[in-house]
Amino acid sequence: MQILDGKIVSQAVKESLKQKTKELIQSGKKTPHLAAILVGNNGASETYVASKVKNCEEIGFKSTLIRFESTVDEQMIMDAIRKLNTDDDVDGILVQLPLPKHISEEKIINLINPDKDVDGFHPVNIGKMIQGLPTFLPATPYGILLMLEHYKIETKGKHAVVIGRSNIVGRPISILLSRNTYPGNCTVTICHSHTHNLKEICLQGDIIVAALGKPEFLTADMVKENAVVVDVGITRIPDASKKSGFAIKGDVDFANVSPKCSYITPVPGGVGMMTIAALLMNTFAASQLKN
Ligand code: NAD
Repeated sequence: MQILDGKIVSQAVKESLKQKTKELIQSGKKTPHLAAILVGNNGASETYVASKVKNCEEIGFKSTLIRFESTVDEQMIMDAIRKLNTDDDVDGILVQLPLPKHISEEKIINLINPDKDVDGFHPVNIGKMIQGLPTFLPATPYGILLMLEHYKIETKGKHAVVIGRSNIVGRPISILLSRNTYPGNCTVTICHSHTHNLKEICLQGDIIVAALGKPEFLTADMVKENAVVVDVGITRIPDASKKSGFAIKGDVDFANVSPKCSYITPVPGGVGMMTIAALLMNTFAASQLKN
């Protein structure tokens, strides 16, 4: 069994971006600039945004963080996005999800200029992704592809079972793995909360992507020998022994599943780190649209 190490792969991606950014700036081009919008005080969202900003700084990108109270009016967020859309210095815009219930995520995402939509959630970019046209791929699925590519994992003709059909993870990774490219060319089964015989389907999976948000859901009896298992899940479980007061759990029962796998991602240290690396890749690509 080999660990698919998000730390190693994301570091390699970041080193390469750092070098390219240095060359860009030396040649007189503008510094890539990511603007992030954070609404409210959700602990996980705060951590994710802080990490994205820190990573930007580390590789030489400029970053701007715009914060709103959780009671903010939807119009105020929309006004901020309109400003960022027309600000020539800003290359990428991300709105940290989830947003408070009184704000329409759909409205907010649809307002972002697709050329600055570095999270790859805008319907225009999703449409391009489906057609295999150049675009910003959604960050988490893109991160998974970068990881499969780094470890040269064979995907052609494999049966990929994806558990979860969200717009940000399950559905896009199912589409990407089915595309006629590498990594891709898989036969994909997408499973969800209404799927019958999930265990039998998972047992057919050469590659399993678990993205449902249920800690340790995928157990050893659901996984065939030598499967490649990608664990997307991130759930905070109260844990008094940790300084933070919580432990992070994935969707896979790692201790019992890992001995059966050819490759597996850990949580933490797997897909989560790749999501940020993919976001940085998209931001760099967005900055190149103008250069
Ligand atoms: P979501 O809640 O939007 O979607 C969950 C999906 O799982 C749904 O499509 C649902 O049908 C399916 N599902 C739920 N219970 C099921 C069951 N018993 N059997 C089969 N399918 C079931 O979640 P999401 O936003 O896609 O996130 C999924 C997990 O991934 C969460 O833990 C989230 O925190 C994590 N996540 C991690 C990253 C990362 O960077 N690693 C990024 C995004 C999300």
